[in-house]
Amino acid sequence: MSRKKLIAANWKMYKTPAETRAFITAFLPVVKDHTRDEIVICPPAVCLPAAAEGVAGTAIKIGAQNMYDAEQGAYTGEISTVMLVSVGCTHVILGHSERRQHFYETDEFIHRKIKSALAGGLTPIVCIGELQDEHEHGKTEEVLLRQLKGAFQGLSAEQVDAITIAYEPVWAIGTGKTATPAIAADAHAFIRAQIRAEFGDETSQKFRILYGGSVKPENVAALMEEPEIDGALVGGASLEPESFAAIVKY
Ligand code: PEP
Repeated sequence: MSRKKLIAANWKMYKTPAETRAFITAFLPVVKDHTRDEIVICPPAVCLPAAAEGVAGTAIKIGAQNMYDAEQGAYTGEISTVMLVSVGCTHVILGHSERRQHFYETDEFIHRKIKSALAGGLTPIVCIGELQDEHEHGKTEEVLLRQLKGAFQGLSAEQVDAITIAYEPVWAIGTGKTATPAIAADAHAFIRAQIRAEFGDETSQKFRILYGGSVKPENVAALMEEPEIDGALVGGASLEPESFAAIVKY
């Protein structure tokens, strides 16, 4: 089964609304005829309205980088699914390793957020991946299995159909050390095999698994050639319109 690739930009905590508008003004003309891949831009929360307005009428989608699982309430500083949808979001990154590391997010908490995102109609891009030490000690599959089970426990195949995973080896994020296409493809095949075992062949064949970790214009083509790799989640190299456009158009 051929899966349309998805290229997503994770801007992390970079850019103001004015800088978001400037990015989109420069980016749109370069990718206006690009239909081969889906494009999603995930700016900081305060930039979501500017981003959504900027891409209105195009095929480019907007995603958030985080959310909370309650609908509303006394949760100072948090943003709900309903709020994200109301400003034009269609996607949300969940379980990014920076959130696991700096904000102590657990698999159980990520699972709750996935359910809330799905219930509200957002597509979760769920990040999983092993640390450098785990990679060196051959624990990649054990870590991926634990994170997958934690995130997907109790979900139906129909719910899983609406999720995208990003395999992001933590040792490759922001380090310039990209996983080789073969390492990434092996991890993706392992993830897909788990999805098949839990949710069936049809779901596993439709399911998109992105690679993230120092994707750049220079290395994207080799990664995307792997049939197991269904797109990319791009951090640093998505901050400049020229560089992100070069990745999208690899
Ligand atoms: C990320 O933050 O998801 C990421 C992959 O970052 P970078 O591309 O900078 O490694």
